Amino acid sequence: MGKNIFLLSVEIWYNFKAFGNAESGLRGAHKRGMETPSDVLKNVFGFDSFKRGQEEIIRHILDGRDVLGIMPTGGGKSLCYQIPALLRDDITVVLSPLISLMKDQVDALRQNGVNAASINSVMSWEEVQDVLRRVRTGSIRILYVSPERLEVDGFKDFLMSIDIGMVVVDEAHCVSQWGHDFRPAYLNIAPAVSKLRNRPIFAAFTATATPEVRDDIIDQLSLRSPFTKTTGFDRENLFFQVEHPIDKMRFLLDYIKKFPDVSGIVYCSTRKSVEVVRENLVSAGIKAVRYHAGLSDEERLKNQEDFIYDRAAVMVATNAFGMGIDKSNVRYVLHNNMPQNIDSYYQEAGRAGRDGLPADCILLFGQGDVSTARFLISKGEDELMKKTGYKKLNKMVDYCNTGGCLRSFILNYFGERDAARTCGACGNCASDSDLSDVTIEAMKILSCVFRMAERTGGKRFGVSMLADVLRGSKAEHVRTFGFDGISTWGIMKEYSTRTIREITNFLVAGNYLKADEGEFPTISFTGRSFPFLKGGEKLLMRRREESAGWKRWIKNRTGEYDNELFEALRALRRQIAAEEGVPPYVIFSDKTIAHMCRSLPSDEAEFINVPGVGETKLRKYGGAFLAALNDWSVKGRKTADS
Ligand code: ADP
Ligand code: MG
Repeated sequence: MGKNIFLLSVEIWYNFKAFGNAESGLRGAHKRGMETPSDVLKNVFGFDSFKRGQEEIIRHILDGRDVLGIMPTGGGKSLCYQIPALLRDDITVVLSPLISLMKDQVDALRQNGVNAASINSVMSWEEVQDVLRRVRTGSIRILYVSPERLEVDGFKDFLMSIDIGMVVVDEAHCVSQWGHDFRPAYLNIAPAVSKLRNRPIFAAFTATATPEVRDDIIDQLSLRSPFTKTTGFDRENLFFQVEHPIDKMRFLLDYIKKFPDVSGIVYCSTRKSVEVVRENLVSAGIKAVRYHAGLSDEERLKNQEDFIYDRAAVMVATNAFGMGIDKSNVRYVLHNNMPQNIDSYYQEAGRAGRDGLPADCILLFGQGDVSTARFLISKGEDELMKKTGYKKLNKMVDYCNTGGCLRSFILNYFGERDAARTCGACGNCASDSDLSDVTIEAMKILSCVFRMAERTGGKRFGVSMLADVLRGSKAEHVRTFGFDGISTWGIMKEYSTRTIREITNFLVAGNYLKADEGEFPTISFTGRSFPFLKGGEKLLMRRREESAGWKRWIKNRTGEYDNELFEALRALRRQIAAEEGVPPYVIFSDKTIAHMCRSLPSDEAEFINVPGVGETKLRKYGGAFLAALNDWSVKGRKTADS
């Protein structure tokens, strides 16, 4: 690494010498005249209104003030600096932690007709030369680089020789040791910036809200009395839910199999469980890829790209995956294991629904997750960190067990005290009409567990066998134990295996039954089982699955627009994306496509009114999409006529 950097620096030094002053003085070719921030928002990015916080931040930057923007994932941090960058006539340097992140931003900007570029370690010497030359001539005005690049001598010299008006630090929490992604090179940013010709405006952005991290960002980056804007942390389009399934794999399969082509992430706590989960998904015919620190760089990159380019639907990963993923159409994030704290959980779950459309964040809790998390924390060296670690873990466990609103639990954790007490849109707030009385079913299930143990002299069985017996199966494995002869055999014939599972899960969560840990957990009685069987207690269960966020949305959406059209436009997008070598969501987001399906634009004037369509995209894709929309309405008319 050290050697690489050295070589790189030599190369860049030579580049600097070679191009030296030859092309200076040509910059400013793209300044957007007298446009206002709103004009740029509309003309370049195709949006009509700012998201929360954007306008204020942009105004302060244009006034020459340092800013610190703390906004949730998907909150629209990029435009906060991209719009001012386009309104200035000097160069903006953006420091970003990962190549994939830079690539995504540059792709997205180029799609909108903005000349941006990044320099990274996988580029060839010639490519780097080319970018530096174009920055120098002013044809590139937004340059993305990693903080490590600032340590490369030649690059430092290059920076000192150009007019940098603004330095942006994206994912600024990486500068803080209190954050979850501390990156030492971030500490070099402030010294490097102090050596520039003129001190540029400094803008830092993060989604991490804790006070320690915020103060650290200001100190470590030496921001000068920055305008600090923290927008609300709520992500309204995310549906939060906690499940306590006995058989997590079954839950994952049931959930994912309903919409196998939709993009989603499954987080697991260990590499081994990544492997197991992925194998199971693949065997079930789902296009799933894996990501963890034990894989080669090549495989990780390939799998990540397959996911980003919609070639693989599901990413099964450890927490090594995700930073630097700006994929906007992730419809769900399922946690197969509980993370160690709410900070990580919200960060990971927050990768769902960046496009603002409904998305699900479901955590599958298992008692074993607590011991794993404890173990991982106990391995730490710093006593203070360990103490904080346990404290945070307890909060995480509380989240998994609370009966209250999950969203307000999270928002309270981040210090938003006035957060609504009930959101109406999380697993715990699902409306009361979803409650059903399962007292009788519960009695039948408990009796069956009891009778099965009785028949076999105390043996324990899993929920599959239990369901088979209750449904009156005559399968070999049922008869072997003589279960076809016990009184509870077939007493739930009219129920699906799925429902029996669901109620059994519910009983385990309520401690009416207990499931031991392991790959094939078995079910047994607890202290609450007998008292319940004696009667007198009524059990109401929430049928949660049906109310999960984006699935409910899909149901409600029926009639709002034609699904076939939606899929046709998505296919067109995929085709264009493949031709251009960019991720599909960079062409148009799902939200933009959904809007097209609703508003059915028929000419360019209507097309540019679709949010997410700016001048460049109108020019590039207007024709193809309008043609597809037109084909569809002609076809529709024909069908209606016949
Ligand atoms: P962050 O970096 O805060 O996670 P991004 O900058 O990647 O968020 O933006 C998230 C999504 O929101 C992107 O798809 C972006 O195009 C969209 N977006 C940003 N600003 C607006 C806006 N004013 N109106 C509509 N969509 C927006
Ligand atoms: Mg971002």
